[in-house]
Amino acid sequence: MQVTCPNCGARYAVDPLAIGPTGRTVQCARCSHRWRERPIAPAAVVPPPLRPIPDFVIRPPTYNSGLPALTTPPAKTRWGLWLSIAAATVVVLGLAAYAFRGELLALLPAEWRDFLHIDALRELFRQ
Ligand SMILES: [Zn+2]
Repeated sequence: MQVTCPNCGARYAVDPLAIGPTGRTVQCARCSHRWRERPIAPAAVVPPPLRPIPDFVIRPPTYNSGLPALTTPPAKTRWGLWLSIAAATVVVLGLAAYAFRGELLALLPAEWRDFLHIDALRELFRQ
């Protein structure tokens, strides 16, 4: 504890046990003033005993309890992802159709070949 001389203001660090529970007469080394030093209040020295925290129950909010209602967030739309997948599918199908164009033309009935003018188109791009 810290003891301060009431006469000159000199301060001393003193063991609280040296003062004792009832206090003690002390003398200032600087000005030789004597006074009765009181012990520190027991409440300040001894920390209060820890009380157990009582149990409590957190209950979910009831209807009309004043709390905001919980709402489900709107579903995220991933249009960019679906457009990318669709574009990749179209590219892959187009490449596959180009790669197997001979087999696909052989599978077409003759009426479809005439209807689609495929032979004329092949002659057009043959150059
Ligand atoms: Zn003093």
